[in-house]
Amino acid sequence: MGAHGKPRLRSRFWTLPLPDLNPEEWEALCDGCGKCCLNKLEDEETGAVAFTRIACRLFDDATCRCAQYDIRLQFVPECIVLTPESIGEVAYFMPATCAYRLRHEGKPLPDWHPLITGDPDSTHKAGMSMKGRTLPEFEVPEEEWEDHVIEEEF
Ligand code: SF4
Ligand code: SF4
Repeated sequence: MGAHGKPRLRSRFWTLPLPDLNPEEWEALCDGCGKCCLNKLEDEETGAVAFTRIACRLFDDATCRCAQYDIRLQFVPECIVLTPESIGEVAYFMPATCAYRLRHEGKPLPDWHPLITGDPDSTHKAGMSMKGRTLPEFEVPEEEWEDHVIEEEF
């Protein structure tokens, strides 16, 4: 129970509209896929976004997490901070499987999502995460990133 006598994570909170989620629920919605930590290429003419396997310099490929999440903006000011206010503007820039994007579009979470399975590792087990599949951005020159474009839904 939280400080105000309410459970912090309500039953099936992920079915609620995004603006209704409390901060803990908002954080818990993330599936841990790591795809938002991939460097993207945006086609200037079409606006199409392609994901590459080249990960942000703070991405830990072994854990599939940000190595400095709490202070990441000091190192990576361009990191997108997802909030109920910003999701509308950045949803198009997120992976198609991103839980925030799906819920923003009124779609259900996929059946492999940890909130559905109850298993925190189910995103990895389903092969839907970037764990062990990225290259660090300091190893690949930017002009070669287009050689590393990946399919978004594996
Ligand atoms: S700063 Fe952290 S959360 Fe942001 S893109 Fe990089 S690895 Fe991901
Ligand atoms: S793409 Fe979405 S669900 Fe996946 S790690 Fe990033 S914020 Fe979480």
